[in-house]
Amino acid sequence: MHQPPIPHVARTDPEIAELIEHEARREYEKIRLIPSENYVSAAVLEASGSVLTNKYSEGYPGRRYYEGQQFTDVIETLAIERAKALFGVGHANVQPYSGSPANLAVYLAFAEPGDTIMGMALPMGGHLTHGWPVSVTGKWFRAVQYDVRRDTGRVDLDEVRDLARRERPKLIFCGGTAIPRTIDFPAFAEIAGEIGAILVADIAHIAGLIAGGAHPSPVGYASVITTTTHKTLRGPRGAMILSAPEYASALDRAVFPGLQGGPHDHTTAAIAVALHEASQPAFRDYAHQVVANAQALAAALTARSYDLITGGTDNHLILVDLTRQGIGGKAAARALDRAGIELNYNTVPYDPRRPFDPSGIRLGTPAITTRGLREEHMPMIAAWIDEVITAATSDDAPLDHLAADIRDFLAPYPIPSWTPGPVSAQ
Ligand SMILES: *Cc1c(COP(=O)(O)O)cnc(C)c1O
Repeated sequence: MHQPPIPHVARTDPEIAELIEHEARREYEKIRLIPSENYVSAAVLEASGSVLTNKYSEGYPGRRYYEGQQFTDVIETLAIERAKALFGVGHANVQPYSGSPANLAVYLAFAEPGDTIMGMALPMGGHLTHGWPVSVTGKWFRAVQYDVRRDTGRVDLDEVRDLARRERPKLIFCGGTAIPRTIDFPAFAEIAGEIGAILVADIAHIAGLIAGGAHPSPVGYASVITTTTHKTLRGPRGAMILSAPEYASALDRAVFPGLQGGPHDHTTAAIAVALHEASQPAFRDYAHQVVANAQALAAALTARSYDLITGGTDNHLILVDLTRQGIGGKAAARALDRAGIELNYNTVPYDPRRPFDPSGIRLGTPAITTRGLREEHMPMIAAWIDEVITAATSDDAPLDHLAADIRDFLAPYPIPSWTPGPVSAQ
């Protein structure tokens, strides 16, 4: 049964209620290894499903364009204050609808169309919004992109410095979506400082690790920090922009009225709840356990002859090159999903294959750690991954038994949003 229960959806729209129920069960029964996903708490779910969805609040607390903000102002102020306290920054904007609009707001605040900006190339682990050609950020700005080294799979900061000196971008983005290693914020800050660029640390993937003290913080190095709230931070779908007070008004004006209309107050409330949860001692344990689990999983995969980009991980994320296994990332991801292990296909640096069928898979431990899995469970998961991939590359019979084994394996580890039991149709 979905938690909290959804009897009204079941009555009004049984078709959608059934699909939600199926999705909740799917999230319960699968080993979810997509590194950008998680399980939010029931409290976060309740706040994001609350009456706040009924309200319009264009503007900022105390400066709104609509009446009736007695409670929304307090909620947004709490979210802002909690974000500032958790990350140790002087300013927070909690209104961006998601990570991509948060990044767009930063462009709007500090750059003009045609200006040079710099970010990590998407196939190297960067994000679309860091200037990749198909993104508006690559179309409306002159984007220069840095790579990782072929031999190490890591960013070469000497190369970044050379490129920055040559191209003199206004904005430099660091961070990305497929980076298994610690980001060297002080080194990026030095490069940006040398050419007078604004350093933007996009910590969407690692915000929860930073909040929990399991990854160094960009605070004090990056002028602007953007993050989603729904990945390792374990909040609702949303985003935040953090900065020193000197950038506050430019950033706030860029988010509203520059880019957005009314903030999603229900999301703001859920962000506040998630930030409260992330400030508790248990969240520090969670963040460190995410990394310990990723390192144990990386070691177990390496022991089974899988090639890990950079040879391992410092964070929540593992990028595997399957060339040696003789299978494409897409075929592997499909076979694994059928068997009950959910991850995504991904390009690896300098991938010789096409982006729609690249050489790699990307996996991570935020969701399974929320469920309570620990290091000792990782060898079993690696063994199942290997079994599925080996079967997919041979003519072995489909692994029908695996889904049941995985259900049994996960049964002692509940999720906040679904409990086995009857559907609450009334
Ligand atoms: C996920 C992500 C984003 C975008 O977030 P959306 O909410 O999907 O728009 C931006 N930057 C990085 C580095 C991300 O990982």
